[in-house]
Amino acid sequence: VDLDRFKQINDTLGHPVGDEILKLAARAMAAQLRASDTIARVGGDEFIIVLEKDVSSYSVSTVARKLVEIFGHPFPVAGRDLYLTASLGIGLFPKDGEDPDTLLRHADLALYKAKELGRNNYQYYEPSLGAGALERMTLENALRTALERRELYLVYQPMYRLSDRRFVGVEALLRWTNPELGDVPPAQFIPGAEEMGFIVELGAWVLREACRQLGAWRLAGCEVPRMAVNLSVHQLEREELVTDVADLLTEWGLHPGELEIEVTESPLLRQSGPAPEVLEGLRQLGVFLAVDDFGTGYSSLSALRQMPVNRLKIDASFVRDIGRDPNDEAIARAIIALAHSLGLETVAEGVERREQAVFLTDAGCDIVQGYFYGRPMRPEEVVGKIVEAN
Ligand code: C2E
Ligand code: MG
Ligand code: MG
Repeated sequence: VDLDRFKQINDTLGHPVGDEILKLAARAMAAQLRASDTIARVGGDEFIIVLEKDVSSYSVSTVARKLVEIFGHPFPVAGRDLYLTASLGIGLFPKDGEDPDTLLRHADLALYKAKELGRNNYQYYEPSLGAGALERMTLENALRTALERRELYLVYQPMYRLSDRRFVGVEALLRWTNPELGDVPPAQFIPGAEEMGFIVELGAWVLREACRQLGAWRLAGCEVPRMAVNLSVHQLEREELVTDVADLLTEWGLHPGELEIEVTESPLLRQSGPAPEVLEGLRQLGVFLAVDDFGTGYSSLSALRQMPVNRLKIDASFVRDIGRDPNDEAIARAIIALAHSLGLETVAEGVERREQAVFLTDAGCDIVQGYFYGRPMRPEEVVGKIVEAN
């Protein structure tokens, strides 16, 4: 049994409330069990329940249903009614495992499935569930070796200021070319890397490589004013990030204002998102912060107002149909107005056609990025572009 979004309760209401809820939930679950059953808390918000006597899949389903129902009622904590749900994964002995380890691992996979299906439900283990886990493991191994074997590299996409057409910097985008898998797009491996906790290591490599490249351009006399790097919110949960960034800047002789960190909107503006000290630390350093894919997620304006953010990147999905869909045009205009009223700049991503560029100029968008201006390119092509422009 895993309580859903328990971290959010801890983060928003504090650990004493979290502890209280754990106790209430444990007691409520225990009340549904028989004396011959066992319930144990095995960590954080995870419980294991063992049903030992007279078990049929019918009785297991009955218990599972009762447990899920408990969470249909609010828990009275700290003078208020809190709603909490739980997800359950079930493994049956001996069908799903003849030893505790196997049984638990399979119950875990079923739990994972229950979470995937939207939480607040129970699932039985099925052998097909293992396939996804195997894929994740293969990906994890492949990614680990990818770093060692130098299969990963960065490409850089130019950004331009609309008012004077000036080249203002590049965004670093991660690429992976694997001998067997071919080119794997980031949309395919980044979510996996996040899930398996590998993103911190991977992201640290990206940050370092991007800073190294910016320093190298500088030494070669090639002026790239700013480097934007995409960071996973998991990287912003670690306080070490601030000193890591400061060290990198010193190491490659960079000014903090030359580095911009992009974080996608949904995790950034969530309560349980980045550690406030990390954002504040980065702001004090003088590093820029941009909200990526703005408009696609949880556009919490109150969270946005409190964050040391410098730029909003209008998601490409709103840019795509500019010139064809008045709704998207209205959204783009609204985001630009909102950003400006908060003193933030806007970057439009995915600009592919002239009519989009004309619209965005007219709407007062500050910066543009997209195939119309330049594709993501290798470092030497960036140099070529700059030489050409001068
Ligand atoms: P993003 O940060 O929003 O990056 C923009 C994506 O749009 C890139 O896809 C870029 O190649 C693509 N793009 C740029 N101009 C155009 C255009 O005119 N038209 C179209 N259709 N697409 C355009 P990419 O490189 O596949 O990256 C996808 C996402 O993966 C990124 O979205 C970012 O969220 C993530 N990502 C990429 N590199 C990293 C990284 O180093 N670390 C982390 N954490 N995430 C990364
Ligand atoms: Mg980005
Ligand atoms: Mg984006």
